[in-house]
Amino acid sequence: MAELKPTGRFAPTPSGRMHLGNVFSALLAWASVRSRDGEMVLRMEDLDTQRTSGEFAEILRQDLRWLGLDWDRETPAQSTRSDIYDTYFRILYEKGLLYPCYCTRSQLHSADAPHLSDGTYVYPGTCRNLTEAERAAFRRDPAWRVMVPDRQWVVEDLVQGVSRWNLARDCGDMVVRRADGVYVYQLAVTVDDGLAGVTEVVRGMDLLSSAPRQMYLQELFGFSHPSYAHVPMLLASDGRRLSKRDRDLDLGVLRTRVTPQRLIGKLCYAAGIIDQDTDLSARELAGLFSWEKVAGESIFFEGSTL
Ligand code: GLU
Repeated sequence: MAELKPTGRFAPTPSGRMHLGNVFSALLAWASVRSRDGEMVLRMEDLDTQRTSGEFAEILRQDLRWLGLDWDRETPAQSTRSDIYDTYFRILYEKGLLYPCYCTRSQLHSADAPHLSDGTYVYPGTCRNLTEAERAAFRRDPAWRVMVPDRQWVVEDLVQGVSRWNLARDCGDMVVRRADGVYVYQLAVTVDDGLAGVTEVVRGMDLLSSAPRQMYLQELFGFSHPSYAHVPMLLASDGRRLSKRDRDLDLGVLRTRVTPQRLIGKLCYAAGIIDQDTDLSARELAGLFSWEKVAGESIFFEGSTL
């Protein structure tokens, strides 16, 4: 069988300017694919229509271009695709894996719900076996959950190495559609990556726990698993994670202060991808790129040195 063309993606959420963490993930996603003559897909993840906008989407495209990153096609924004997500929702329904869940937010977060050390909860299956009469008595629209199996998932991450997961213990049955009818990130991403033929997913380390959830859905939908690379987080010198809140480090400000080559060079130097603090263009990064050069540890980044 012919090798699949490497296909990567940018999947930004158009809710504000790109910050340095997004820039770093986008650079590596692009360099990985372009260093092997692959294709790049852009997709706007705007399921949360309250926080996202078409203006931010356009600014994101301009920010990517300013960095020197290009893409071969843009697939339709997630907010326009609920018909497609309905089709995949139905697949889960027909497999008998879905059930309506009427739990309220406060029930889910109550002190007696089982919580993991990171503060997330494990859904205990409260609504799994409700009778039809019990369901009808709620008189409101439910969220829908997919049952998860008690089995191990192995994520072989290009940066983080091997990790093992069991969704029954890590999160419990997962919501795939909210009570207001909006599909959740895990379902939308799995469908969109699968239909776009994405073969590698590169994103921030904070999404590593999404990999086994998406692998489960890929299996149910008949998509092959992409490879995963969860790139380290950028930390300020006091150990705090750099985020959208660091307004002085979003591209709106940085574009007025540095060249893209300076920014890329500085980021790649901080990450240990290059061993000198020199300017670097996106093209040059693709020329020297390999995943062995990307370490898994968090990266300390001093914005003031830019
Ligand atoms: N839309 C997500 C973000 O901007 C990324 C999701 C993904 O790469 O799977 O953080």
